Amino acid sequence: MDLSIDDKVQALREEMRDFFAKNLPPEFARKTLIGEKLTKDEHKQWHAILREKGWHVPLWPKEHGGPGWGPMERLIWEEESGMAGAPRLNHVSQDLLGPVLIEFGTPEQKAELLPRILSSEDWWCQGFSEPQAGSDLANLQMRAVRDGDDYIVTGTKLWTSYAHVSNKIFCLVRTSTDGPKQAGISFLLIDMEQPGVTVSPIYSLGGMLSVNEVQITDVRVPVTNLVGREGGAWDITKFLLGNERLMGAWIGVNMSLARQVRERLGRVGADGRKRSENSVLAQRVAEVETDLLALRYTTYRVLADELSGKAPGPEVSVIKVRGGEIMQALSELLMELAEIEGMVHPLSMPHDGVPVVPDELEHMAQQFFDKRKLTIYGGSSEIQRNIIARRLLNV
Ligand SMILES: Cc1cc2nc3c(=O)[nH]c(=O)nc-3n(C[C@H](O)[C@H](O)[C@H](O)COP(=O)(O)OP(=O)(O)OC[C@H]3O[C@@H](n4cnc5c(N)ncnc54)[C@H](O)[C@@H]3O)c2cc1C
Repeated sequence: MDLSIDDKVQALREEMRDFFAKNLPPEFARKTLIGEKLTKDEHKQWHAILREKGWHVPLWPKEHGGPGWGPMERLIWEEESGMAGAPRLNHVSQDLLGPVLIEFGTPEQKAELLPRILSSEDWWCQGFSEPQAGSDLANLQMRAVRDGDDYIVTGTKLWTSYAHVSNKIFCLVRTSTDGPKQAGISFLLIDMEQPGVTVSPIYSLGGMLSVNEVQITDVRVPVTNLVGREGGAWDITKFLLGNERLMGAWIGVNMSLARQVRERLGRVGADGRKRSENSVLAQRVAEVETDLLALRYTTYRVLADELSGKAPGPEVSVIKVRGGEIMQALSELLMELAEIEGMVHPLSMPHDGVPVVPDELEHMAQQFFDKRKLTIYGGSSEIQRNIIARRLLNV
């Protein structure tokens, strides 16, 4: 295993740092670093800036408009963009669906849909989970019944991130009830801007709107919107979830949170003493920093395997579990280090427009609550631990 970073990659890291310093609007970085949501317009502005540089779809190969980076360059991007506070762009479209279309899409689907993602015209959301199908995804019930050149689709998707700002949804649908449950599932692309599609918001523990329920009733979807073969969605799903879990390391974002934690540890607390003099707190900070370093090297190891031609395997579950847990630990430490002011929740404290606490503290409690989701979505930590036990530890 070769973990060295060559001069070319190091030079790219410097180029990214320089680019962010000169081009990332400070307001976007500020919002991202404290966990405030950017508007869709702001996302589009950032997309346009990245597009000019050719870095708007960092995971894509050159022939489809991406920079053609290898795994190491992509990791450096993840680290540097997270550290700089660069917003993650339209990630369901670019990082989840884009690679699926490139790998499994028909030439027509690629020609029509990839440019619309590149131009930020289409915003996709992911319709996998349902009321009775989360961890047990193969239990999904959304039906797609063939009728001539169309499918007629009916069912409910739940916890659909960004559905309220998306115009398209890719869904796992049941096209057959014969045989094993997985074999009757197909991957279908659905336009949301048509009658029969209803999006209802669900507010998270942190009081934010990012997930929704999507109700689809008797919606006609052309058969040409099928990705892969009918009944062939399970392999596509594994491919997509593998990518999603690899991204669950959140290395750059975790590094930026760790930097904020370290900085706050150096400040003087309400008792007039430097917080770092609290040895229990200082030890907890050191522990999570060590965990983060270990995660970083584990991610490098998985990427080194990828460089030698091996597809990411069950190790991505380790990355997903630890990435989420480390971010939760960091958000907890940040809230504790902010002392009493860190407890203020922007939604529970009406203040008639007058700030109760400094701006960067307003979102701390909200972020603490919001980060609970990290060990649920993309496959909960319990499910990841089952995978680790079965496929990595052979127990
Ligand atoms: C913020 C957020 C965003 C999301 N975004 C999306 C999205 O965009 N698209 C989408 O399709 N889905 C999305 N999801 C759904 C997410 O993938 C599911 O919530 C997740 O897979 C868990 O499913 P569930 O909620 O139905 O819980 P359940 O599957 O009902 O599980 C409940 C609990 O039981 C545990 N459990 C279940 N089975 C086992 C088992 N075999 N062994 C041990 N423990 C088990 C789980 O770990 C969990 O703690 C999102 C979820 C959240 C919280």
